[in-house]
Amino acid sequence: MDTVIKNVKIVTDGKVLEGYQVGLKDGKIAAVVPAHMPMEGVQVDGKGQYLSAGFVDIHVHGGGGADFMDGASAYGAACESHLQHGTTSIVPTTISADLSQTLFAVEQFMEAKKDMSIRCNLLGLHLEGPYLNPAMAGAMRPEQLKPPCEKEYMQLWEASQGGIIRWTAAPELEGAIEFGKNMAKQGVVMSIGHSDADYDTVSRAFDNGYSMVTHLYSACSSIKRIGGFRHAGIVEAAYLMDDLWVEIIADGCHLPNSLLQFVTKFKKPETVALITDAMRAAGQNVTESYLGSADCPQPVIIEDGVAKLLDRQAFGGSIATTDRLVCTMVQAGTPLPLAVQMMTQTPISFVAPKLKKGRIAEGYDADLILFNENIDVTSIYLKGEKVK
Ligand SMILES: [Zn+2]
Repeated sequence: MDTVIKNVKIVTDGKVLEGYQVGLKDGKIAAVVPAHMPMEGVQVDGKGQYLSAGFVDIHVHGGGGADFMDGASAYGAACESHLQHGTTSIVPTTISADLSQTLFAVEQFMEAKKDMSIRCNLLGLHLEGPYLNPAMAGAMRPEQLKPPCEKEYMQLWEASQGGIIRWTAAPELEGAIEFGKNMAKQGVVMSIGHSDADYDTVSRAFDNGYSMVTHLYSACSSIKRIGGFRHAGIVEAAYLMDDLWVEIIADGCHLPNSLLQFVTKFKKPETVALITDAMRAAGQNVTESYLGSADCPQPVIIEDGVAKLLDRQAFGGSIATTDRLVCTMVQAGTPLPLAVQMMTQTPISFVAPKLKKGRIAEGYDADLILFNENIDVTSIYLKGEKVK
């Protein structure tokens, strides 16, 4: 073995395994065996801490002062600031912008993929829009939102050379069901978000390739009365449809503990991913920042541990890192191994099920983190190399 990590509580598959040690070789987990078995290699004492797969953030816009919309040069700072908090795999996410800016973001993602100095696995790109409902814009600019246009989305898809792995859209928009069908056929994970869809539309979207809900409860329809009759929305659909996956911004600000408990009470951990939805101020100590790229900045205030729009009437993304999400879930009453599952195995199963990541088992990539009871990440291994 290259490295043997012992004296740890292994957190994987929604459970805690005690009395085992983990051997790493050539960037992979080569052995998970009882602690008394002798193994050659550099011996690392985990001091009784937890050892889990590195965290996986499938919806994140930036961090460390950088936004993925800035271009390839932003990736180093953004990825590094999230890596230091335990994120070893990341899905950079765009904000809704015009075609030229979105194309730029797609091309820059491809550039960043080639940059070997970026110390985080870039799983693929997530386009959050621009095919979103202006009535559910949240922090997106309503004037950038529009119904899908086949010529445009095919141009983006081709430019990405398969790099787009997720796409968030509002299925009630004209052409959005067909868009979902077309992209799902290409293997893109289609997600319902910034949407006012009613239950029937969600159900039709699900039958046509949409498999998940983007930040459940945020910019998301719920029960509405129209002419006296009640109509269920996305939130109710997410609970009724067991196979509809959801992601939640578990920073402790976007959703109170009661709603975090509600989600974990009614959805299985295999169907709930934790996301930061972090903007550039994540991992920074600032009071002002902005959303999107520097040439199209949208100012926000950073206070109470979250980014707020200037009128303080809505949030403009989080400043969370993945360690904080796990900590928030545990404080809300989720058992630690399930919170870790929702931050590792579940998000990988949504967007990259073929990758050997997100679990501690033989043959899996040695992207591993050590953390204590407070979820302070103390050591990080990326493909077997210690990076913190
Ligand atoms: Zn987002």
